[in-house]
Amino acid sequence: MAVVTRIAPSPTGDPHVGTAYVGLFNYALAKRHGGRFVLRLEDTDRARYQPEAETRILEMMRWLGLTPDEGPDVGGPHGPYRQSERLELYRAHVDRLVAEGKAYRAFETPEELDALRIDQKRRGVDPGYDGRGRTLPADEQARRAAAGEAHVVRLIAPDEGATTFHDLLRGDVTVPNAEIRDAVLLKSDGYPTYHLANVVDDHLMGVTHVVRAEEWVVSTPLHVLLYRAFGWPLPVFAHLPLLRNPDANKSKISKRKMDTSVDSYREQGILPEALLNFLATMGWSMPDGREVFTLDEMIAVFDVTRVSLGGPVFDLKRLRHLNARYLREVLTLEAVADRVAPWLRERGFAWDDADYLLDVVDVLRPRAETLRELADQAEPFFVDRIAYDVDARRRLAAGQAYLEDLEGAFSRLEFFDDDAIDDLLHEYVQRQSVRLGDVMMPLRVALTGTTQAPGVVDLVAIMGRQRTLERLGHALQAIQEGLPDDDPERLKAEAEAAAKAAEAAKGKRRPPTAAEQG
Ligand code: GLU
Repeated sequence: MAVVTRIAPSPTGDPHVGTAYVGLFNYALAKRHGGRFVLRLEDTDRARYQPEAETRILEMMRWLGLTPDEGPDVGGPHGPYRQSERLELYRAHVDRLVAEGKAYRAFETPEELDALRIDQKRRGVDPGYDGRGRTLPADEQARRAAAGEAHVVRLIAPDEGATTFHDLLRGDVTVPNAEIRDAVLLKSDGYPTYHLANVVDDHLMGVTHVVRAEEWVVSTPLHVLLYRAFGWPLPVFAHLPLLRNPDANKSKISKRKMDTSVDSYREQGILPEALLNFLATMGWSMPDGREVFTLDEMIAVFDVTRVSLGGPVFDLKRLRHLNARYLREVLTLEAVADRVAPWLRERGFAWDDADYLLDVVDVLRPRAETLRELADQAEPFFVDRIAYDVDARRRLAAGQAYLEDLEGAFSRLEFFDDDAIDDLLHEYVQRQSVRLGDVMMPLRVALTGTTQAPGVVDLVAIMGRQRTLERLGHALQAIQEGLPDDDPERLKAEAEAAAKAAEAAKGKRRPPTAAEQG
């Protein structure tokens, strides 16, 4: 039998890392067995529905490379794949259960249900629907429904005994039927509840393995009753552990405590491969213990029964480290350049020569953990003019004589390559009898505007003679325009303006769109 798995997100907010996590494991399980992976949008909670959330979920799956075999954007033989477009189907299934006496139409008003709850509380019994609607004769139910009276449809759950299901990761899970109650299947607005739509769709879409988050364990016994009421075979169930915050009590991840939006990781410049690799290690590991592996390598050995339930911690630091390893070791230089190129273009930077970008990425990638950091650090290599802040000007002024000398020396240098530049700088420092840093620091600031840049020789060699000389010219000009001690008031105003401009520029920056990222 072919394996069919699915991810069934509700489009209610930011695309969640939990959806990516569960999606990954379902994808891997299906692909491991040459099966199909279905994406279904559970959009029946109309109060919480957000149209843009839907697009963003599909986009997230595309970005991660977890392309569904069936789904709203790719179609398939079991569509539509949006529950809101399947309402007739749910109604027909509910009608069938009602006709067979397995479900009934219940007419209690919200006030009546409130009164029931208050009474149960007073009597000290567990709150919940007491099945009172079961006794209304079927013809009476039909008559009142036909007259347009508001009602829900409820499943008749057994009062005695218990319901057991087998979970691949937890073994048998048993719940006393008294706890299940006559659950609502169809709401008074004609929309199905999660339980009904979920079971009907999983069956009609041929889902063989329901792999989902732990929070749904409590709903599964009711689902089992529904499968039985319809006379359908049960799928295999596996409930994955919830991702946890790295805090002391390891609470379930929530957006109040940390970033749970996949989009925001993407905006920070986390690579989809690194995020998948990271999520794959949440409760699962490669049999050989390898920490860095591709999706295909995971699929080749994936075994869902090896998922451990010990509360995997979503540790951002680990994610960033892993991302850095992808930038430095896993991806080729060319691949990293391809990834960062849209970020640079988005900032309005251009380059004629592909090798220039490769050189820049080559010196920067050991220093960056994310694409955003890489793009930030690459900026000085692409801007026409550096805006030197007060601190930079102070450092430039301190090295003015060296910068003037070097401007001349660089323009005279015959072969403008690493070795020649290195020799030139060392000889210069020796001749001047100064410390290397005294010369390198103002030069680094002149070229990049910051003190945090990579090795000066690399900088000069990559920027090339023309750009280096231009920068030195600008730096010397900046010194002329105002030494830090000239006019403290003006410098203060300048520093504030520069800080404001930097803030504004930050706000304007957005990561490239998917189309730009290719
Ligand atoms: N719509 C549910 C969710 O948002 C699906 C749960 C399930 O996979 O059954 O998580």
